[in-house]
Amino acid sequence: MCGIIGYSGHRRASEVLMDGLKRLEYRGYDSAGIAMVEDGRLLLLKRQGELEMLQKALPKLEGRTGIGHTRWATCGRPSDRNAHPFVSCDGKLAIVHNGIIENYSSLRGRLEAEGHHFTSETDTEVIVHLLETHYAGDLRQALAETVREIQGTYAIAAVLEGSPEIAAARKENPLVLGLGVEENFLASDVTALLSYTNQVLYIMDGETVSLTPKGVTIFDMDGAVIKRE
Ligand code: GLU
Repeated sequence: MCGIIGYSGHRRASEVLMDGLKRLEYRGYDSAGIAMVEDGRLLLLKRQGELEMLQKALPKLEGRTGIGHTRWATCGRPSDRNAHPFVSCDGKLAIVHNGIIENYSSLRGRLEAEGHHFTSETDTEVIVHLLETHYAGDLRQALAETVREIQGTYAIAAVLEGSPEIAAARKENPLVLGLGVEENFLASDVTALLSYTNQVLYIMDGETVSLTPKGVTIFDMDGAVIKRE
């Protein structure tokens, strides 16, 4: 097991992410990383080993939107390169993933033939390159189109440079949203969110999410908005 955390709001995102990852530590992991929207650009930091390694490498960051990950390696050995997040070739999109992509090998072959450059040995990295091929201005929709192409299990969170939005999707891996005032959260487990909010929404298999500081919108597989109390 392993974990995902996401934040978009008015606090320093790196602090919320590191706090959330600490609370998810009990799930087990071999590496950790974060992707931040910092000064409009994406900034990635990832390390093999304990969260402390990541904390030590972390500069003071001001960004208010970011995603974080603890990895339990299933495809590709534990290493800095194989740690999440992963970034698209153009550097504009980043994702984290828990789960296993079963058809990654054929997807990777196709994406490499199309000119995508891979930096890791993981199954996960195909997701960010697929996302790049689908992105045409709507991050959540691009993620919905991406997950249609993958077989396996996943909880995924994605960010885009210059944007406060986080898009997420899940199938057979847990994902919960935490609701705040002018801030919203997502995590693998509610324990990562309880010091910020007690209002949560569970994401179900096949659903996708758009999260910004202003609100969260959940979509079903057909792209229709779902109302959930
Ligand atoms: N299969 C992915 C990897 O090995 C994700 C592992 C996880 O769930 O943390 O990188």
